[in-house]
Amino acid sequence: MDGLFSEDTIHILDGKLAAGQESLLVNLSLKKDGNPVARCGAVSVDRLHLLADYTRISLAEIGSQVLQGQPEIAPFRRGNSTACTYCEFKPICAFDSSLPDNNWRRLERAFREQAFNAMADRIYRKQGRKQETRVRIGYSA
Ligand code: SF4
Repeated sequence: MDGLFSEDTIHILDGKLAAGQESLLVNLSLKKDGNPVARCGAVSVDRLHLLADYTRISLAEIGSQVLQGQPEIAPFRRGNSTACTYCEFKPICAFDSSLPDNNWRRLERAFREQAFNAMADRIYRKQGRKQETRVRIGYSA
């Protein structure tokens, strides 16, 4: 199972996983010292809060744009992967990448640290806060 989860729940999600092993149930591998490897789905509670705040801000912005009549249709594309691939609205959607005004929003591959820092930067900018206390030392909402 893919996705992110709190590192506090590791032993609930796969209670039999021992140090140095990779879980067959969730996106989780433990180093020999018992800590999760950096690329797995385990993240701190602070980072889950950051992700929730970022999602909340993004949805509010999208909602405002829709209410102002400016819903930009710009689905993401990264390589062969697009937002439209499994979209249920495809049969009625007006997006056509062959039209001049219909553009993909091309996503760059970002490492997890970069992505969390970019989200924290955006949240702090939105709140008019300084950025020194960001993810590196823990996100504080
Ligand atoms: S099919 Fe249309 S509605 Fe669905 S993700 Fe693509 S652009 Fe958006």
